[in-house]
Amino acid sequence: MTISKLVESLTAKLSPAASVLTDPASDEFKAALERWTELDLETPGAVVLVSSEEDIVQTVKLAIEHGIPFVPKSGGHSQWSTIGSEGIIIDLSNYKNVIVNKSAQTVQIQGGVVNREVIEALYVEGLCTSLGGGNTIGTIPQGIGGGICALTKLCGTTSDNILSARMVTAAGSIITVDDSTPDLLWALKGAGQFFGLVTELTLRTYPLSILGMDDGSVYTGTFIFDIPQVGEVTKLAHQFMNVKDHNSAVLAVVTLNPQLQKPCFLLMCIYFGPAIEAEKFLEPFKALSPMMAVGSMVDYTNINDSMDPFTVKGDYKCFNLAGVPRFDPAPWQGIAESFVELTKAFPDIKMGGYGFEWTTGKQKEIELDSVWAHRDLQFWVENLSWYTDESSGEGVQKAAEETLAKATRHCKAEEIHHYQNFSRHDSLESRFGEEIVEKLRRLKKKWDPKGVFTKQLL
Ligand SMILES: Cc1cc2nc3c(=O)[nH]c(=O)nc-3n(C[C@H](O)[C@H](O)[C@H](O)COP(=O)(O)OP(=O)(O)OC[C@H]3O[C@@H](n4cnc5c(N)ncnc54)[C@H](O)[C@@H]3O)c2cc1C
Repeated sequence: MTISKLVESLTAKLSPAASVLTDPASDEFKAALERWTELDLETPGAVVLVSSEEDIVQTVKLAIEHGIPFVPKSGGHSQWSTIGSEGIIIDLSNYKNVIVNKSAQTVQIQGGVVNREVIEALYVEGLCTSLGGGNTIGTIPQGIGGGICALTKLCGTTSDNILSARMVTAAGSIITVDDSTPDLLWALKGAGQFFGLVTELTLRTYPLSILGMDDGSVYTGTFIFDIPQVGEVTKLAHQFMNVKDHNSAVLAVVTLNPQLQKPCFLLMCIYFGPAIEAEKFLEPFKALSPMMAVGSMVDYTNINDSMDPFTVKGDYKCFNLAGVPRFDPAPWQGIAESFVELTKAFPDIKMGGYGFEWTTGKQKEIELDSVWAHRDLQFWVENLSWYTDESSGEGVQKAAEETLAKATRHCKAEEIHHYQNFSRHDSLESRFGEEIVEKLRRLKKKWDPKGVFTKQLL
């Protein structure tokens, strides 16, 4: 069947609020293609903007029956929710509802919901849960791909908190995934994209008091240092990384100062506890004379706001992460200087940069039976290539790879992990570990033997 025939059959079956976009020149089509990154962005044969679970089921069913490939799209922050003219995008952006069940301490989330919307709905009910570092990231994709965030030590990853899901399978049927299908539930906790289209997810939630303050406020602080200070600040950061008696999360990145567009070293900290404790905890950084230091208590709803400059859509961007068991501060002054050189060679570089992140505090004991394979890791080293001229891609990304190699050179190859939410190209073993991959392969054969939801794992 051709896409135009599929569109014809679909249009008769979809609910009145749904729509199918087929004209790439139209404003709606262009808006539906907006992504966090334009890297490898393709133009699909059609975009189906669904508005109910039944719309999703009908679209998947017809696409499978007629052999038309498709990809779901939620918040649009990955490189993978795109497809060429041979296929269609099932756009979930208008299928969004959040239902909080306060007495059961759970939240039900539909396919197009983004993190900020869940956080706000939970906050008014005095609840919170583990949701990652970007307000506009699709909650379901993030959760079924893992979901690390500032709260991971307090209540696990997003995937640890998945209780059940509604999912369209590769056979085109809608099923409930819960304790009655324990293997599939396990697979959705970190490798969900390989098994189906999740229309709805139910997550466990927690009282706001787990954040260290009964009113659900958290301390956020930002420090900006000059490039020559990177070595000294990184050495200090290294001393902080294994602290067990304070819960905090820090992202440190050599980037462009958002206001001045000049290279700088940015430290973004979240501290769980009163401002007075936070300021004492962070005092050693202040003592290193940053160019800027600000901090205040904010509502839980604003916990991810410092990431907003990094989540904007458009331009060419590529995130690479490597998880390591030990951190080495030694190469970071050199890495910072190489970023400065890179911005001179490629003046179209926008923020982005090279960085690392860690959390402190004691890890809450988490039920270990999930696909999440990185529990022993303490640190993530990361780089974000971000440029506006497509021709800069090769040079900027080559530099990013070299930096990641420098930042992880103290670890053996088998100690370096990759993370499903940021990679579809690193080996499956480095994303999940050998034993988990073996089990995932068996489940893939059972649930998606023809590779409707990518051929990976087959
Ligand atoms: C700036 C930034 C910060 C980030 N911070 C974090 C972080 O702190 N922690 C973390 O864990 N991750 C983080 N991520 C990674 C992010 O969680 C993943 O890229 C996530 O998959 C993006 O989801 P999305 O809905 O926005 O993207 P999309 O591109 O819409 O979807 C991502 C993938 O999921 C598929 N998909 C979409 N909807 C569904 C569905 N309903 N069922 C099945 N598959 C579906 C898509 O086809 C695609 O393969 C970050 C990413 C960025 C860009």
